[in-house]
Amino acid sequence: MTEIEKRQDRSPVPSAFDYAPAPESRDIVALEDRYGLFIGGEWVEPKSGEYQPTISPATEETLAEVAYGGSEDVGLAVESAREAFDNGWSDIAPSERAKYLYRIARILQERSREFAVLESLDGGKPIRESRDVDLPLSAAHFFYYAGWADKLEYAFPNRKPQPLGVAGQIIPWNFPLLMLSWKIAPALAAGNTVVLKPAESTPLSALLFCDVVHQAELPPGVVNIVTGDGRAGAELVQHAGVDKVAFTGSTEVGKEIQRTVAGTDKKLTLELGGKAANIIFDDAPLDQAVEGIINGIYFNQGHVCCAGSRLFVQESVYDEVIAKLKRRMGTLRVGDPLDKNTDVGAINSREQLERIQELVASGAEEGAEIYQPPCRLPEKGWWFPPTVFTNVAQSYRIAQEEIFGPVLSVLTFRTPDEAVEKANNTPYGLSAGVWTEKGSRILSLAQRLRAGVIWANTYNRFDPASPFGGYKESGFGREGGLHGLAPYLEFDE
Ligand code: NAP
Ligand code: MG
Repeated sequence: MTEIEKRQDRSPVPSAFDYAPAPESRDIVALEDRYGLFIGGEWVEPKSGEYQPTISPATEETLAEVAYGGSEDVGLAVESAREAFDNGWSDIAPSERAKYLYRIARILQERSREFAVLESLDGGKPIRESRDVDLPLSAAHFFYYAGWADKLEYAFPNRKPQPLGVAGQIIPWNFPLLMLSWKIAPALAAGNTVVLKPAESTPLSALLFCDVVHQAELPPGVVNIVTGDGRAGAELVQHAGVDKVAFTGSTEVGKEIQRTVAGTDKKLTLELGGKAANIIFDDAPLDQAVEGIINGIYFNQGHVCCAGSRLFVQESVYDEVIAKLKRRMGTLRVGDPLDKNTDVGAINSREQLERIQELVASGAEEGAEIYQPPCRLPEKGWWFPPTVFTNVAQSYRIAQEEIFGPVLSVLTFRTPDEAVEKANNTPYGLSAGVWTEKGSRILSLAQRLRAGVIWANTYNRFDPASPFGGYKESGFGREGGLHGLAPYLEFDE
């Protein structure tokens, strides 16, 4: 008789698992009541005199008050970055610069739990993601670019690479620390100094990063952080003392920035929105593909510029894929970002929630069929359940516009040609996914899809050595790899 049959206890075998709460402790994070600006290695009061609260989107509680820098503050930050550039940073031994970057990378690793909790508190993303994705990748970017800092001559042979000067960097709220790392690590490795403006709804990890800068004993003024809203961003872009503007955010603001910079000798890179196609062929391993679809659109609540927000399924496997997808969606746990079991956290802000709701309403009105698995949303805070739309036409707004939320639009195709044509029918061109057994088909699609990053039989994979960036309205310039280093250098050729 087997062990199981011998079992005396007749209690019912559970048919569904309820997860007990597994919250990560907040105690590891010490917040100030109020934060100033970080300029010249010091905390300073904003000349603007303005402070605004930053809120936890999961509870609507105020976490801290944060300075809103104005024109004078941006001016002081740029001045301090210029001074640091002229008086040392640009001509210290490159191996010294590398030393600071390695230090920052190691400190980020050591303090990763603290950063992960803070990132989830301020931004609403699940702790599992901030802990396992945002933090390791942030540290990896500093390690990676630390490695290049003293090898620029080898990275760009016979081109005499030189730093540009002061970089003005503006980042969004979806991956606050990771976007900071993508910006600051290559800029410093190349010998520039920076003024960075975080997004207004997620400033706290950038402010904690100032503590890392202190701990690493980075010379004052090499990194300056000016918190605030779009006004501070606009001041930074148009400041005459800025040599290079690096922006990640919406296409709308990106266009405005491009207009401001036009006619000046400032260098510019833009990482903007996306509406990526995730294409499933009938020979793909469907269970794995469904995991890729889930990861592609529900990772970080869909607040991902490269999210696989348009799903293209080959008609012969359509019913099977949709059935599997809906079943898998039912297992996603939506709720407390600090709970280690949570898959989908809070929507980053009320404004973003309203944008998602408006687009979802338009999808239903235009005639698409909506499905949301049953799930109980917390009463306080901003939430949106995982959503899938079927019966979507290419002309619908939900197939054209970036929703930047946990909302997937499903379309179908019959042939590879049709898949390519439909996938490219978008103003964006940031990323795409292809799922098929055939290597030759992967290579052929990769050539024909107009997207900066193409994943095959996987999705949302990042590596500091691999360049990331877009075509068309997704922007220009690349971040990551040597491609991401070049925009921070000029060459004497
Ligand atoms: P956003 O409004 O463009 O904001 C991005 C940043 O720019 C924020 O720090 C924002 O400040 C600042 N800003 C706003 N107006 C500005 C102006 N006139 N001049 C200079 N800076 C200004 O974008 P979002 O809605 O926060 O972010 C979501 C968008 O970013 C999505 O479209 C997404 O696709 C895109 N994104 C792209 C990538 C990529 O790598 N390609 C990565 C992440 C996100 P405040 O928000 O503080 O006011
Ligand atoms: Mg916040």
